[in-house]
Amino acid sequence: MRYDSHDGWPYSKIEHWPPMTYRDRSVPTPEALAAFADFLKTDNSASQNRELQPWLPFCEGRCAFCYFPVSCEKQNVAAYIAALKKALGFYAKNRYVQSSVFNELYVGGGSPTVLASHYLMDILQFCRGNFNLTRDCTTKVTACTNSLSDDKIRLLSASKVNQLDIGIQTFDDSLRKMLLLRDSGGDARQKLKVAKKHGLSVSIDLLYNLPKQTKKQWVEDLKQALELEVESVDCYPLDLYADTPLARRIAAGELPPIGDDAAEMEMYVEAYHLFKENGYLPTCHNRFSRIKEDFDKPSSEVVGTGAGFFMGHIGSYLYSDIDDVKDYVAAVDRGVLPIARLATLSQEAEMRKAMMLIYLRVPVEREEFKMQFGKFPEEAFPDALRRLQEKQLIEIADGKICLTEKGDPWRFNIAWEFFKDCEN
Ligand code: SF4
Repeated sequence: MRYDSHDGWPYSKIEHWPPMTYRDRSVPTPEALAAFADFLKTDNSASQNRELQPWLPFCEGRCAFCYFPVSCEKQNVAAYIAALKKALGFYAKNRYVQSSVFNELYVGGGSPTVLASHYLMDILQFCRGNFNLTRDCTTKVTACTNSLSDDKIRLLSASKVNQLDIGIQTFDDSLRKMLLLRDSGGDARQKLKVAKKHGLSVSIDLLYNLPKQTKKQWVEDLKQALELEVESVDCYPLDLYADTPLARRIAAGELPPIGDDAAEMEMYVEAYHLFKENGYLPTCHNRFSRIKEDFDKPSSEVVGTGAGFFMGHIGSYLYSDIDDVKDYVAAVDRGVLPIARLATLSQEAEMRKAMMLIYLRVPVEREEFKMQFGKFPEEAFPDALRRLQEKQLIEIADGKICLTEKGDPWRFNIAWEFFKDCEN
């Protein structure tokens, strides 16, 4: 399929992010923080999928496109690990978390594998010793190939880590150089092979619509992922943030601009078809996967902490932590929760959030929705659902509301449809 123009597109612009990201949240008042702390003292009686996320925001150096709050200063690591354990310990001591069971432990960042192995082991042991993890709890660790020595891979595998989530971005050496990635495509491929040899599942990130990236280079990246038999691939269109080295080089005319929406769409559709033909199905935000669990309903709660951690969701609270490592450590040392932003979901917001399952490629069950909110989705969102059905971006069948193949590239725009008539 070619996308030479916007003719016939259901939207004029492709959205890259859904509503309710941490950027929308406000700085908490002391009263809001106290209410959150009080909530943590209550019992959690709901049995749902739940994730534990210790956050290690360290990297070897900053990649040219990266807009995450990461730290490249290794001298802060020991103090940070101590503070992280103290903050995790705060959550672990509270009744709500003590009465919660976690089926996934996700060590995020940053690139946690840049840290010395003993720090990684310390955090894994701390989480396993202080939280209720299910017997078959999946453990995933975020990694980058240049910090993955063979010894580290062996140790992670022996420590019951199931999966490495690795930011490959591209295997192409000229593009890797432009992105300031520190090893070659060949080195990265080799590390993936070693990880797989040691029984680790491998999930990689690839970036598309990069400056200078041709469709041929993109297809070659996709084919290499298939050849390496990785378990899943998250394909992200480049989101250009103004204060990144890549954006500055484009602004200075040293690099050409990124492709327009039509070029981006064409690359996405290429990936969509290639992966489907090879047994990988679309799931989650941007993933093509052959891991069965990737198609389960996503975790309804994420308990976590760390500098730059942003996915917190406990009860009806959404939270993200202080970005800066030193400020995070100082806050924990003062004995305060290192939370920078906090939001409480109203019943209305919970309903909108429930509809966002569609963009994650998970069907919304009409009866389940009615049991939870007292009305069917089409009673709560008549206009949005009518618009989406008319455009054939969703279908309603057998009591489920699902994304269609036509709707797939527009899944983030679809998520926004349920927020059109509200502030947040
Ligand atoms: S490794 Fe990941 S988190 Fe670290 S700078 Fe690069 S893109 Fe950002």
